[in-house]
Amino acid sequence: MATNGQNGQSNGATSAPKQNGKAYPIIDHAFDVVVIGAGGAGLRAALGASQAGLKTACISKVFPTRSHTVAAQGGISAALGNMGEDDWRWHMYDTVKGSDWLGDQDAIEYLCRNAPKAVYELEHWGVPFSRTEEGKIYQRPFGGMTTRFGEGTAQRTCAAADRTGHAMLHTMYGQALKHSAEFYIEYFAIDLIMDEGQCRGVIALCLEDGSLHRFRAHKTILATGGYGRAYFSCTSAHICTGDGNGMVLRAGLPLQDMEFVQFHPTGIYGAGCLITEGSRGEGGYLTNSEGERFMERYAPSAKDLASRDVVSRAMTIEIREGRGVGKEKDHIELHLEHLDPAVLHERLPGISETAKIFAGVDVTKEPIPVLPTVHYNMGGVPTNYHGEVLTKVGGDPDTVVPGLMAVGEAACVSVHGANRLGSNSLIDLVVFGRAVGDRCAETVTPGERHPDLPAGSDDFALSRLDRARYAKGGTPTAALRDRMQKVMQSNCAVFRDGPVLEEGRKLIDEVWRGAEDIGVTDRSLIWNSDLVETMEFQNLITQAVVTMEAAANRHESRGAHAREDFPERDDQNWMKHSLAFIDDAAHTVRLEDRPVHTYTMSNDVPYIEPKKRVY
Ligand SMILES: Cc1cc2nc3c(=O)[nH]c(=O)nc-3n(C[C@H](O)[C@H](O)[C@H](O)COP(=O)(O)OP(=O)(O)OC[C@H]3O[C@@H](n4cnc5c(N)ncnc54)[C@H](O)[C@@H]3O)c2cc1C
Repeated sequence: MATNGQNGQSNGATSAPKQNGKAYPIIDHAFDVVVIGAGGAGLRAALGASQAGLKTACISKVFPTRSHTVAAQGGISAALGNMGEDDWRWHMYDTVKGSDWLGDQDAIEYLCRNAPKAVYELEHWGVPFSRTEEGKIYQRPFGGMTTRFGEGTAQRTCAAADRTGHAMLHTMYGQALKHSAEFYIEYFAIDLIMDEGQCRGVIALCLEDGSLHRFRAHKTILATGGYGRAYFSCTSAHICTGDGNGMVLRAGLPLQDMEFVQFHPTGIYGAGCLITEGSRGEGGYLTNSEGERFMERYAPSAKDLASRDVVSRAMTIEIREGRGVGKEKDHIELHLEHLDPAVLHERLPGISETAKIFAGVDVTKEPIPVLPTVHYNMGGVPTNYHGEVLTKVGGDPDTVVPGLMAVGEAACVSVHGANRLGSNSLIDLVVFGRAVGDRCAETVTPGERHPDLPAGSDDFALSRLDRARYAKGGTPTAALRDRMQKVMQSNCAVFRDGPVLEEGRKLIDEVWRGAEDIGVTDRSLIWNSDLVETMEFQNLITQAVVTMEAAANRHESRGAHAREDFPERDDQNWMKHSLAFIDDAAHTVRLEDRPVHTYTMSNDVPYIEPKKRVY
């Protein structure tokens, strides 16, 4: 069963490195594989590794079923063809186009080809998918999902009403418990143990009793999710602080494509909570203050079901041009009241409840006030399609970092490129979660001996903990976090412009440097302390900085990155991934790049040539 236990403890011995004059006793654990994160990606990876007979630990800062995956509403994409014709090659085409040709086509092929199998696997494990009359898995239309390479509308998104992530997470947690994965719940991973460019495990803090733990592993898998909380208004949970990305940056490794931040068109105005795209898939539509269905002007064929970046920009333009609704003319309306109440009840029960609670709206009678809201991070830890983390050494952009893997929203495989299509994240979690487990099975021998760690290999993590714990400056973490979130929201949002980004660089750098003056009051090593929030903030601020720097650097518009001063996509100069490295002590960022994979995995699948992206 799930434990907070220490079955994986290799010895009870404790070492006691001196920090701040005090000794931190450390409890040692030795595993074949350690997964950090128990959302959809982490659970699938842990399941795969443990099924392969590898001794696997899964560490999570919250109870697994509280991971953000639980909040996913609309569904999971796979070309099953249950509601009409479909083909995984059309799914691949849509994903490449949705990515605005920044996605790696070998990885996209892998995703779409393996998607149906991954959904059937979930079905067999017990995910209670909604059903058609004949008992097949129900599928709804979603933005950017088409048939016949852009001609028709595909119904490709498998759903468990509007609680798909909830159903998946609970099912996978149950399955993971059936296998021998050991769970370390409410353990906060602080930093990776790196030894000459190789990852050897992670140091974590048990938030229940404040004890410190050294997890040694042949493969350490980051499945720590996105960093939506770098922004003021987002649909993601408070725990979405991209801790794994922060660890990677501190380890001197790059993050990829961080300028690409997805704004979901329909966050509830004011509250930020999500109203799923599935609501437009079921027939909902947007209007401006003139009651006009304005998406017909911006995307004549796909209309309200154009890709998310397209709809978010259209809404922003409507508001800017004075056609927003409300007293301040600062939002848009989403209509569901024309839909059959039975459909709302059966297919969208969760959002009906959310709209009632957070907007005071009865969706059967009135429209929901909505606004584009930060929702997903396309950028993250660069990996190949096995989930192995990549860095750039001596000009080779595909150098693998031994011992380190990443999966899920933390990773950038890259299948979503410059813009993710709705329902393509949940499928990414399970397809690549499985790939990571398979890769561990191929490359690790169960019970393999761990080489000795060099002296001082924990110092990096422990001194970070210590510096945060005893920070005696004059600025509360909450004040800095607030400043960071507002700078990101106002200077790096749906539309970007040179001068605004330049100001953003300056302002976000001030917040980064301001972190030197943090004052921590509650130094306890347990949950909800100022200390844990400070370590989360330290992870967020470096991601905010590289997001801003990469956005200022990319002189074109592509997918979610829309520059007013460079309104066109520029394949000649910018069809490449950006890589951002930091020097945390010097407060500097170095930007490099990596070519997009313009090849597929198999000879029978042609490369999809770039063309203009219209819906
Ligand atoms: C409201 C909402 C609705 C969405 N709806 C859909 C949808 O319908 N379809 C779709 O495809 N996508 C959807 N998405 C996107 C999708 O849900 C996410 O991208 C995906 O669930 C992320 O999964 P993950 O496993 O990578 O990370 P998460 O589910 O965020 O899990 C991260 C895990 O890492 C752990 N962790 C983090 N930091 C640490 C640390 N320092 N130490 C230890 N553990 C740590 C956490 O405890 C958690 O277990 C939605 C997103 C949101 C916010």
